[in-house]
Amino acid sequence: MVDRRQALAALDAADPLAGFRDAFSLPEGVIYLDGNSLGALPVATAGRVAAVVAAEWGQGLIRSWNDAGWIGLPEAVGDKIGRLIGAPPGSVLAADSTSVNLYKLLAAALALRPGRRVILTEAGNFPTDVYIADGLAASLGEGHEVRAVPAGGLREAMTPEVAVVMLTHVNYRTGAMHDMAALTAAAHDAGALMVWDLAHSAGAVPLDVAADRVDFAVGCGYKFLNGGPGAPAFLYVAPGLQGQVRYPLTGWLGHAAPFAFEDRFRPAAGIARATVGTPSIIAMAALEVGVDLALRAPMAAVRAKSLALSRLLIDLVAARCGDAGFTLVTPLADAERASQVSFRHAHAYPIAQALIARGVIGDFRAPDVLRFGITPLYLRYVDIWDAVDVLADVMTREIWREARFSMVRVVT
Ligand SMILES: *Cc1c(COP(=O)(O)O)cnc(C)c1O
Repeated sequence: MVDRRQALAALDAADPLAGFRDAFSLPEGVIYLDGNSLGALPVATAGRVAAVVAAEWGQGLIRSWNDAGWIGLPEAVGDKIGRLIGAPPGSVLAADSTSVNLYKLLAAALALRPGRRVILTEAGNFPTDVYIADGLAASLGEGHEVRAVPAGGLREAMTPEVAVVMLTHVNYRTGAMHDMAALTAAAHDAGALMVWDLAHSAGAVPLDVAADRVDFAVGCGYKFLNGGPGAPAFLYVAPGLQGQVRYPLTGWLGHAAPFAFEDRFRPAAGIARATVGTPSIIAMAALEVGVDLALRAPMAAVRAKSLALSRLLIDLVAARCGDAGFTLVTPLADAERASQVSFRHAHAYPIAQALIARGVIGDFRAPDVLRFGITPLYLRYVDIWDAVDVLADVMTREIWREARFSMVRVVT
């Protein structure tokens, strides 16, 4: 056992991404396996936020909209995120929340397919995506329907009444990853538009939305992009669609000339059209720090290490907790999984709580999934070893049975 851990320490010593760990501020005694839910804090974030607050806001005051480039930040940070997802400059905007961006893009997409009434999605998609689509369908009052089918039935369900196919690239429970190019092509063959949610993909796996001919995408700033709790999200609109789309939220900063203060809305030409109101500059600055860090890390190395760490976790749980009742729900094939490992277990909730009490932070997703996020920029091979060591102890000594670990809190 000691030998095995030493061998893993040797992998860490040779890891080309090892230096990134010091760019994060991680608490002592914690193994953080939840960066897919809330990314860790970059060391540089506190200084950047402090500078924005003290100098740009405190001293620059309103002049900073021009002098510090505040007004251009949603597009500037958007362009940086664009480099992570294979989007050309001018096609990504950092703004709002993922939920709100999805509403904007879904509405715009439906308007481009008049006569078609179905939003097709996958059963078990992330709830906010489905809630947003349902709410939009109801508010349109034109008989739109949200149709959810199992992943395997998606292509068959792409019938002529489908206006939009709305999918999350990586399943939040299982970590299973769709073939973006193939499903986008299938949607187009059926005459539908494709909207991808990249919440668990951006910064985690290689993406090329332009090559894959994606129409619309949204994604999250606080997961693998390490932008901080409630960080601005992002949206992508294919350049060829930008001049045609009409968004349901027509705020002043999406106007062609916001400071002309015209009486009527005239949409901006490019991606700025998707802007609604004033961006949260302090949050945007924090997000930019996380995005800059992600841009410094070669994605091929990130992906290779993510797959290796995930495989290590899967193998170690099988070897050391094989009879403890865990069922792997993450696909084993590399091409089909992203950057998390999930297990079903009848007692997943108290097990997750017992792990957290020992400093191994993963999470629980209802009804019975224990989820571990794999973030190669700050996780080491020995961390996976140590985490499974704790898990094995929690299982063999049945520590999770302590009553305190079954108390359900608001956020799981
Ligand atoms: C995390 C996540 C979101 C988050 O949406 P918010 O509006 O930022 O709360 C949306 N969709 C998916 C698939 C997610 O995983």
